[in-house]
Amino acid sequence: MKFLTKLNNLYSPGPSWPGRLTWRKKYFVFGEAYTDGQACVISVFRLREGFYGLPEDQKLFEHRVLKEAVHELGHTFGLSHCPDPKCVMHFSNSLRDTDIKSHDFCERCKRLLK
Ligand SMILES: [Zn+2]
Ligand SMILES: [Zn+2]
Repeated sequence: MKFLTKLNNLYSPGPSWPGRLTWRKKYFVFGEAYTDGQACVISVFRLREGFYGLPEDQKLFEHRVLKEAVHELGHTFGLSHCPDPKCVMHFSNSLRDTDIKSHDFCERCKRLLK
């Protein structure tokens, strides 16, 4: 669970720009590290409200990116998709699924991570 704590620490919801930048940089580094072999790819672009012709919502966008990043990291730690819709490892068919799920693992997935 160390990586999740790290991610959460780097993710600063406040207006502190250095924190946000660090978090973004880390996230993109993770994205690159993930390119070998797995089928899940994060398209950050489609996570933006603006992509759907809606007004931009930076907070919502960042929460979505965080969830997708934790989800992908979960895969790299050997987790597969989870039937619990609240679990971050739940497969997102649409952005609505992404918004419904939390950015944390359910008890089952937490146990599998150990
Ligand atoms: Zn996945
Ligand atoms: Zn789960």
